[in-house]
Amino acid sequence: MHIVVLAGGIGGARFLLGVRAYAREVGAEVTAVVNVGDDLWLHGLKICPDLDSVMYTLGGGADPERGWGRVGESWTVKGELAAYGAQPDWFGLGDKDIATHLVRSTMLNGGYPLSAVTEALSTRWEPGVRLLPATDDRLETHAVIEDEQGQRAIHFQEWWVRYRADIRTHRFVFVGAETAKPAPGVLDAIGSADLVLVAPSNPVVSIAPVLAVPGLREAVADGPAPVVGVAPIIGGAPVRGMADRCLAVLGVECSAAGVGRLYGGRTDGGLLDGWLVAEEDADTVVPGVTVRAVPLRMTDEAATVAMVRAAVELT
Ligand code: GDP
Ligand code: CA
Repeated sequence: MHIVVLAGGIGGARFLLGVRAYAREVGAEVTAVVNVGDDLWLHGLKICPDLDSVMYTLGGGADPERGWGRVGESWTVKGELAAYGAQPDWFGLGDKDIATHLVRSTMLNGGYPLSAVTEALSTRWEPGVRLLPATDDRLETHAVIEDEQGQRAIHFQEWWVRYRADIRTHRFVFVGAETAKPAPGVLDAIGSADLVLVAPSNPVVSIAPVLAVPGLREAVADGPAPVVGVAPIIGGAPVRGMADRCLAVLGVECSAAGVGRLYGGRTDGGLLDGWLVAEEDADTVVPGVTVRAVPLRMTDEAATVAMVRAAVELT
């Protein structure tokens, strides 16, 4: 059995812990196709927040409280950059994390594609699943905002980290998406999958940029494998993070039903065959999609494995 998971950062990473444990039980293989829309260059370093969240979490090196970055982190370089007044100063770069970015940036500058760099970094972290960036090409999520200076587009990280998503926002743009190609292995993985899972990641800024890579959405929607999504919204609110603010930009209701309908049923030109919602949301209806209500809080690995099993059983 081959399971492909479309994933963002923290929600994707925690879900993948459960997928990996389930896969070990049943002898399945797992490929994670991870969002790169959050990626950015800072201080000459290429930072891939979602790939790193997944890699550190599966590799046992993530900070469980903060949710992102390395456990036992120190911040010496950040303090030194601040002493120089180096901009931007709103993005947290830990010392241990910087080593990852140094290795990555050196390889990218040497001509290696991000997928090869990710594979190289994974030899240290042994995530136990195949980690693929959605694309090796530039694909950056920008938010079109409006303030005193008028309308302009800012990088997703500036919107999320600096402005805490608390600024008038018209829309999101996936810069570079038109010409991006799926990273090597992505279409083959989807084509050979027995099941595609959409992690309980942010639908607007984690999953949508993955699907924005030309050919990727079609590969999933028209592919041979059933597609089951897991709701990141429980009882009308994100479990953590600011998915509510992202959904509001699209005018989509912040609910399991709203996100389920945003993805849509495969028979109606959408993505999903099945949609797992929390027990609180048992009355959710998504046209053309089989909805099942189960506990959806990823409190520990066992709870997450139960979610994955429910997703498998839905197909
Ligand atoms: P990011 O890229 O680090 O922001 O992470 P993701 O996009 O992968 O995941 C963020 C989403 O995960 C948020 O919308 C949360 O609501 C969702 N999430 C976090 N923890 C849980 C959980 O325990 N259960 C469910 N169902 N969703 C969760
Ligand atoms: Ca992210």
